[in-house]
Amino acid sequence: KARVFSFGDKKADGNSSMKNLLGGKGANLAEMSSIGIPVPPGFTITTEVCTEYNALGREAVIDLIKEEVKASIASIEAVMGTEFGNKKNPLLVSVRSGARVSMPGMMDTVLNLGMNDEVVLGLAKKTKNEAFAWDSYRRFIQMYGGVVLGMKPESKEDIDPFEEIIENLKEKRGIQLDTEFSVQDLQDLVFDFKDVIRKRKGLIFPSDPWEQLWGAVMAVFNSWNGDRAVYYRSMNGYPADWGTAVNVQAMVYGNMGNNSGTGVCFTRDAGTGENVFNGEYLINAQGEDVVAGVRTPQQITKLGSQRWAELAKIEETDRAENYPSLEELMPSIFEELNEYQDILEKHYRDMQDMEFTIQDGKLWILQTRNGKRTGAAMVKIAMDLLKEGMINEKEALLLVEPNKLDELLHPVFDPQALKRATTIAQGLPASPGAATGKIVFFADEAGKYKNSILVRIETSPEDLEGMNIAKGILTARGGMTSHAAVVARGMGKCCISGAGALKINYKKRTLTVGEHEYHEGDWISLNGSTGNILEGKVATIEPELSGEFAEIMSLSDKYAKMKVRTNADSPKDAKVARNFGAQGIGLTRTEHMFFELDRIKAMREMILADTVKGRKQALEDLLPMQRSDFEGIFEAMEGLAVTIRLLDPPLHEFVPHQLATQKDLADEMHISLQAVKNKVAELEEFNPMLGHRGCRLGNTYPEITEMQTRAIIEAALNLKERGIICKPEIMIPLVGTVKEYEAQETIVRSTANLIFEERNDTVEYLVGTMIEIPRAALMADKIAEKADFFSFGTNDLTQMTFGYSRDDAGKFLPIYIEKGILKVDPFEVLDQEGVGQLVKIGTERGRSTKPNLKVGICGEHGGEPSSVEFCYNVGMDYVSCSPYRVPIARLVAAQAAI
Ligand code: ADP
Ligand code: MG
Ligand code: MG
Repeated sequence: KARVFSFGDKKADGNSSMKNLLGGKGANLAEMSSIGIPVPPGFTITTEVCTEYNALGREAVIDLIKEEVKASIASIEAVMGTEFGNKKNPLLVSVRSGARVSMPGMMDTVLNLGMNDEVVLGLAKKTKNEAFAWDSYRRFIQMYGGVVLGMKPESKEDIDPFEEIIENLKEKRGIQLDTEFSVQDLQDLVFDFKDVIRKRKGLIFPSDPWEQLWGAVMAVFNSWNGDRAVYYRSMNGYPADWGTAVNVQAMVYGNMGNNSGTGVCFTRDAGTGENVFNGEYLINAQGEDVVAGVRTPQQITKLGSQRWAELAKIEETDRAENYPSLEELMPSIFEELNEYQDILEKHYRDMQDMEFTIQDGKLWILQTRNGKRTGAAMVKIAMDLLKEGMINEKEALLLVEPNKLDELLHPVFDPQALKRATTIAQGLPASPGAATGKIVFFADEAGKYKNSILVRIETSPEDLEGMNIAKGILTARGGMTSHAAVVARGMGKCCISGAGALKINYKKRTLTVGEHEYHEGDWISLNGSTGNILEGKVATIEPELSGEFAEIMSLSDKYAKMKVRTNADSPKDAKVARNFGAQGIGLTRTEHMFFELDRIKAMREMILADTVKGRKQALEDLLPMQRSDFEGIFEAMEGLAVTIRLLDPPLHEFVPHQLATQKDLADEMHISLQAVKNKVAELEEFNPMLGHRGCRLGNTYPEITEMQTRAIIEAALNLKERGIICKPEIMIPLVGTVKEYEAQETIVRSTANLIFEERNDTVEYLVGTMIEIPRAALMADKIAEKADFFSFGTNDLTQMTFGYSRDDAGKFLPIYIEKGILKVDPFEVLDQEGVGQLVKIGTERGRSTKPNLKVGICGEHGGEPSSVEFCYNVGMDYVSCSPYRVPIARLVAAQAAI
């Protein structure tokens, strides 16, 4: 089998469909080469070789690929008319990593490889450009030193050892820019770089090009298992056995002088999705100079340049002279680039992110890939490409990444207010959204103001509660994977992390940025989508399901075959979800209603009652409250099905545990404190989640089921009188045996019939059950003979199938995931392999006795893309998820059906 694939000279062994084998970069280099885009010739060592390297080690792998690599180098030499290692006419190459998905900055690249003390002289002579040759040499040592020889900063406080030398020399010479170095300076740098490598690592810098090449190839393979890459993989759930490919490619030089340069560009705006070609470039520069910001990069288009100058407050004459666009400076190169961006976007039928280099007036393309973009840009680009006729409806839907829609569902700043706002500083956009509040510096003070922004140097697990209370989180330290960032994303809370310009003084309770000082209680605003920290109170607006977002959603509904309902416990949630397109409610948890202040009292009286009579008395007080709640929810969901679950949690959760509250309760109920204490103790359970809960409550205290049924049916009848149609579905929780279900169903139906007689009116309703105990899934055929519908409660089903207590799993799940014992948290992503079998069995057996049985899911998984897809494949009628996940589930339902 081939381990090395060549490309260049308008030919290629591979193509863009071979990303798994050649990596994204290699596959696209091959593709570009075959469609006639000018790509420097090169070759790709496959991802499979990376896996072989991990198993066999360096020497064995070199033996495996040596011949193919030699032949491929020879074909590069033939195209370029140069020779690897030749002192007069040298070929230099880049060695670039490239996994099947882009992992920006996670792995390493070495440029100008093949350079040594003799080659540098030959190159200088051949090009008649000494500065260029020595600049290339110093760059090579710098990159090879870092990537292959492990020259890294020695401690957190240190900077890169090579950068340190550069900075010192600049200072000594009194210059600002790397382009100002003289030939002598560059020679000094080469000498000093080698010297520091010798001192730190005890190594003589390798001068043999082949030794350099193998060193760099192995270093790229090693970077696949470097800390950064491993973490990135675990975050995104990419398996370790994918491996990375290695691309070896002839160098083209952007650092040959003022007729050369390098840049990056996008076929559309990655932030807004606007269809404008844009990007940045630098004259006389190489590699990542643009991205690394060694100098202020210039804009590609004139329009972009003018927009930029406006923001930077630069006069037009100054701009045109000192920061001209590529369009103005090198019009013919710009025209050519513009043509390629157009060709590539049409070819890949998606927004492209490209790298290019201009060598002495000739343009080369070095990379293209489907560009990363914000949620807003993603949606706009998909719809625009559809309208432009470049893609069809199904392809447009597939261009939208479900989880990224989340960004569009958080409150957003009013664009007008944003224009007027003053930026304090910039951090990392760790969790999207818009937050406004008063500064607090301590988590336990987050509740001090109605709206607070928690400002910390960094956060720790103790801050959790405060983070939850605060409207937004801002940290001076930490990256996109810091505690603050991870937790905030989990909470769906706006967060900016790593805003290095902030000086936080906990003692004085101040936040200082340059000259400005802010105090506790001052208003600030966070734009979590951009990382901008803004002064004062910037107005926000609720996100709207409008424009391209609305268009994508209605397109989704056109293709989706499965419905999306919502989990909602209040009329407010129901309304939000309906605006997001929910087609009913899949779960209303009645217990949440009992926790409100005036109700908890009646609830406690009910629980503490010693006699059936006492309990019924208390339930009578609860009835009107429940009934009006249901009326509100039914009204918000007019015309759509609403599933209401009967009381589920163990009663112990409702009783007071503090002495003072127990006393109050005793007084109010005219019983002794001791009686209250006894009852509380009596309700205590060893395993509450496996204890007296669910239908076990309704079966031991039938009067609770009676009251709840009455509240539901009466609410429905009341609305009917007002001409509002509602479709209640009464759901019995935690059923494990057929008898358990039958006993509850009997109570529900007889209560309903009683009310129908009382009111001389009827309403249609269904009675069904949750399938959340493994036994219920196995007995589904029998249960379905009675039940009108099933709803898989995958939270409990996961808990009981794994035997992991959800409330205790925090102690070991993170460790399991870290050690790879579990790939993901099964409470977040449905375990299709195991728990999924029970879902499948339950559905199949249920429908074996009742073919038209309605089946849905109401666990947290109902809004998680891979789980939603699974539900569709199992044949469910609907998924139900929290209101803000509804659009995501609608999209996935469509994608699954395509
Ligand atoms: P990353 O994946 O981190 O972007 P790349 O392999 O794309 O790393 O390379 C880093 C930089 O070096 C890019 O700016 C790229 O354009 C540039 N580069 C890579 N190979 C060459 C080459 N053969 N000639 C000139 N520049 C190159
Ligand atoms: Mg990089
Ligand atoms: Mg790149």
